[in-house]
Amino acid sequence: MKNESHTELLAALWPDAKQVPAKVLECRHCGRRNRVQVPRAILEPNQCECGACGKPLFLAPQEPLSGIASSAYEHALDRTALAALKGIPGFPALIRWLMSQLGERTLRLLNLSSAVLCGEDQFPELVALLEQSRRSLDLTQKPTLFLSESPHANAATYGSEEPSITVYAGLLDQLNDTEVLTVMGHELGHMHAEHGLYRTVALVMASGTHLLGTVGQVLSFPLQKALYKWMRCSELTADRAGLLACRDLGASLNVLMKLAGGHRPGVTRRTKMQLAPFIRQARTLAKLEEDNWFDGLLATLMTMDNSHPFVAWRVMHLLEWVEHGNYLEILAGHYERAKRPIAA
Ligand SMILES: [Zn+2]
Ligand SMILES: [Zn+2]
Repeated sequence: MKNESHTELLAALWPDAKQVPAKVLECRHCGRRNRVQVPRAILEPNQCECGACGKPLFLAPQEPLSGIASSAYEHALDRTALAALKGIPGFPALIRWLMSQLGERTLRLLNLSSAVLCGEDQFPELVALLEQSRRSLDLTQKPTLFLSESPHANAATYGSEEPSITVYAGLLDQLNDTEVLTVMGHELGHMHAEHGLYRTVALVMASGTHLLGTVGQVLSFPLQKALYKWMRCSELTADRAGLLACRDLGASLNVLMKLAGGHRPGVTRRTKMQLAPFIRQARTLAKLEEDNWFDGLLATLMTMDNSHPFVAWRVMHLLEWVEHGNYLEILAGHYERAKRPIAA
């Protein structure tokens, strides 16, 4: 018997059973190429076996993605937007100046003075979810975890040498544990892909130019625009890491829907948010020409205090990756690995 949430997810994502996407995946044990229907791989990965050797096609649910490189799941838009940003004259100088003025230490002190540091004796439950995500993604770097009061359902990653993740309490009101696990994976993805430095710069810029003084005033519009564009695109890479950490597409999509709609008591008392219409909403976006509306909207959005714009756009890109990108290849054990120093 199929579990109810699976049936709901299946109906939301692939309503027409005759038109489901499929992929050809190579068995990591014997090399045989197997044709697998994407819905089956998503809903029952542990039932998918190689037609030749009979061994499981996919890694076990909590098996670490041993040695995975962030480039294995980096979104192409993230890569090109960052390259464009780095190519703007004055940007490297700005980063150097800003870090000398502010630096990671200041941010860390800010967290230490205003948020709750989580550890073995303080909110170990939250630390355990972070650890579970970290193990799935097989990351060696261990970020410091902070819990901060805020009605916003949000989380953030700062710093690069000593990264820290801050979870805002509003997030815990809205998400269940699997969904929090996804968010932890998302934040770890930012860390793994080394987004920390540039996101810190964007944060400082967004928090007001007074921190930046004269540099802020002369900061060019193209630079701001490029930085914000990259910020949005970097979310796509982090969303992929979130899904790789939890390996539950329903959870990843629910997180995005809840962030878009606000899963607050006033909402939940009156209605049950439905995934299917939200997926349809995201799929209609896929039909629009991305570049046209993306750049137009960006000019407006960069002046708005909105931490979760473009949510349906993120859903669209995540689905695209699952159906046509290398998500299932990664779960089948085929991905780019990072070069690690060999332990003595
Ligand atoms: Zn095989
Ligand atoms: Zn993010």
